Amino acid sequence: MYIQPYGKISSLVGGQFGRLTVEDLHGTDKHCGSVWVCSCSCGKIVNVKRSHLMSGQTKSCGCLGYETRKKNGFKKKHGLSGTNIYWVWRSMFKKKPKIVINKRWLKFENFYKDMYDKYLDHWKKNGKKNTVLERINRNIGHGPKNCEWVTWSEHNGKNNHSRQITCDGKTMSLYELKKHTGLSSGVIRRRRISGWSLERIMSTPLRKKNALTFMNKTLSITEWAKELNIPRSIIAGRMQMPKWKNNAEKILTTPIHKKK
Ligand SMILES: [Zn+2]
Repeated sequence: MYIQPYGKISSLVGGQFGRLTVEDLHGTDKHCGSVWVCSCSCGKIVNVKRSHLMSGQTKSCGCLGYETRKKNGFKKKHGLSGTNIYWVWRSMFKKKPKIVINKRWLKFENFYKDMYDKYLDHWKKNGKKNTVLERINRNIGHGPKNCEWVTWSEHNGKNNHSRQITCDGKTMSLYELKKHTGLSSGVIRRRRISGWSLERIMSTPLRKKNALTFMNKTLSITEWAKELNIPRSIIAGRMQMPKWKNNAEKILTTPIHKKK
């Protein structure tokens, strides 16, 4: 039962809307909707639009929503905010440079529907940490038809295929270059930064900084350490000493002096 003391505006005074009790008319907003002074059961006084009261959009001063979220552990409604697949979805938006995302996937629920079963399959076969979202065609954005789950090595392989290196007017994919030279991408990158030509990058073998040849055997420091049962740090330390630098025999056969 609403009385009408405010002319055209039908009064809501005394009305109960969730936790709110309407106390008085506050005024009208810029759209000529009425705004009401309400007291919440928690004791707070708030001003609420009539439309928000009538539609049920506002049922408290804000305390109700807070309590509900607290009860649910402040999780998003899908309850998957902490899961791996949620982070995969989130990280799509953080890619730089930005990659277009299909409209449907702007909602996590849709991404989940489209990809979760396949994700579980891939995970079971290859492990959780080895399940990466990949675009089938790198020239198109993320979307249900252009995405699949792959392993890291498949992902990196694709990266190397698509990363083109141009030196001296010649272009090669990083993948080809790695295959030809046996060098790692880190070494290739450092050589390019130093301004090496493609020819030089390809023809210069890796300097075996950490290898020692002794009695016709070439092994890495780690391998010698194992072989001779000497701590790796001792061999590495001796190799740093200018006097010993090229003397593998001395490095490997000098007994270790124990500090007194
Ligand atoms: Zn309240």
